[in-house]
Amino acid sequence: MRYKITKSDAEWRSQLTPQQYSICRQKGTERAFTGEYHDCHDPGVYRCACCSNPLFDSGAKFESGTGWPSFWEPADAENVATAEDRSLFMRRTEVLCAACGAHLGHVFDDGPQPTGLRYCINSAALKLDARSSPD
Ligand code: FE
Repeated sequence: MRYKITKSDAEWRSQLTPQQYSICRQKGTERAFTGEYHDCHDPGVYRCACCSNPLFDSGAKFESGTGWPSFWEPADAENVATAEDRSLFMRRTEVLCAACGAHLGHVFDDGPQPTGLRYCINSAALKLDARSSPD
């Protein structure tokens, strides 16, 4: 897959925190319940930590109990990509940012309706662009 946004490894390293780099560019995983957003209920758009592509809306976020922010659908199907992941003796579906190729997490088919999907995403791969509540 070719991405619209491509940067050298050194560029990503200088732009990202060490944790963001290891998760987004080296397919790492943050420990459950340690991330910034697993228990976040603020309204807004979760953008890619690497390139600001809008990935998930808070309206599709749900309590999965897993310790990672979980969504039942992406903000726009075109903004996320998936790939088969056979690492760690499992067969999983990896979720990536379609614009820059950042590793975001995995998607499973045990989510709530209407999609039945559970996008299990690392907080470190996201940056919440908060919507101010109308008042
Ligand atoms: Fe991205």
